[in-house]
Amino acid sequence: MPRQTQIGLMSHEELVSEHETQNANYATLKTEKLTLDLTRGKPSPEQLDLSAELLSLPGDGDYRDGTGTDCRNYGGLHGLPELRAIFGELLGIPVDNLLAGNNASLELMHDVLAFAMLYGTNDSERRWAAEDKLKFLCPSPGYDRHFSITEVLGFEMIPVPMHHDGPDTRAIAALIANDPQIKGLWAVPNYSNPSGVTFSEDVVRELVSMPAAAPDFRLIWDNAYAVHPLTDTAAPVIDVLGLAAAAGNPNRPLVFASTSKITFAGSGVSFLGGSTANLDWYLGHASKKSIGPDKINQLRHLRFFKNADGVRAHMQKHRAILEPKFALVLRILEDRLGASKVASWTEPKGGYFISLDVLEGTAGRVIALAKDAGIALTAAGSAFPYRNDPEDKNIRIAPSFPKLPELEKAMDGLATCVLLAATEKLLD
Ligand code: PLP
Repeated sequence: MPRQTQIGLMSHEELVSEHETQNANYATLKTEKLTLDLTRGKPSPEQLDLSAELLSLPGDGDYRDGTGTDCRNYGGLHGLPELRAIFGELLGIPVDNLLAGNNASLELMHDVLAFAMLYGTNDSERRWAAEDKLKFLCPSPGYDRHFSITEVLGFEMIPVPMHHDGPDTRAIAALIANDPQIKGLWAVPNYSNPSGVTFSEDVVRELVSMPAAAPDFRLIWDNAYAVHPLTDTAAPVIDVLGLAAAAGNPNRPLVFASTSKITFAGSGVSFLGGSTANLDWYLGHASKKSIGPDKINQLRHLRFFKNADGVRAHMQKHRAILEPKFALVLRILEDRLGASKVASWTEPKGGYFISLDVLEGTAGRVIALAKDAGIALTAAGSAFPYRNDPEDKNIRIAPSFPKLPELEKAMDGLATCVLLAATEKLLD
């Protein structure tokens, strides 16, 4: 049922009638007793099946990598060199500057910040926990689990606007130039969660070179979607470490990535890239925590991919599954909400999310309405520090997990909730 009228331009009578229509649509929606979930960006079972071979790798008797390391045993904190070489090529990082870890890059990000709190970084005057106050810059909307880490560690989180080419560098430069309490910035440089934004090279250059009052200011460079395009032209992976070194700030970026959205989300391999000084610092602390990562899992991934082209080819299979889902979501948003002008949304060229902005002041209501109709959405404000969306308008849509027919139902239902909440608000 495509909408033809711009809701904001309706007369009071038209609005009342529109409200009644959407109320009736919503009542019908509730009778369907749906149980649909658009919350987390999880790969679908079909995507996980693409890596089914991993379940039988490395296979009987295969436990040595190319250097002869017995992967069954302790040790090898850096991770397997051949696997690091593959992902180093994809991430534009020399093998010596890239570590391979266990199954979650989020754990590495947490550890890096926890180590900085406990011991200080290699550029810190004291451990961060001993500072009077700590602050962290949070481009918003952003990834809720990033913000949870800095929240629990006690940072004051400062939101920074996101633009089409990355976070607002002018605002960041003004903030960090004079405030040594600002210790870092969260960044998802390729196909950001949830906006889909890819940082331009100019933005990256500015971020690595702008003066910072804190000598130990860090960019937590989470390249979770480095190899996840949804179009023929993949966004380039910018050499943030090289640019930072050239700018005289080699230790500023710490790069993170994983195969969570490539192989198995719960049993992939994570990566940490950085300057030699940063990796030595990290390994010094990590070596007290573990004698080495799960190298059998790393070997399994090495056997599965063989080389960087193996990863690229594999990602095309993911794209074939994901692209129709993204297209479906965008089509329904346009058909149901386009003409009404009560919502706008991103059209990502890669990654896992679509960011939907509804009429200001209605996101919480939309999410509550959807919940009552059996459609689960990420909680209102999730993509903002302290879950506080100042305009109460942002909703993150994760199209990857549901099957197409379920996704269609969920999106159609969500559109009804958006329209109902908008008419309620305008009549208020
Ligand atoms: N970083 C971003 C931006 C994500 O969107 C996600 C998962 O959705 C993760 C990290 C989680 O990565 P991992 O599974 O490697 O911990």
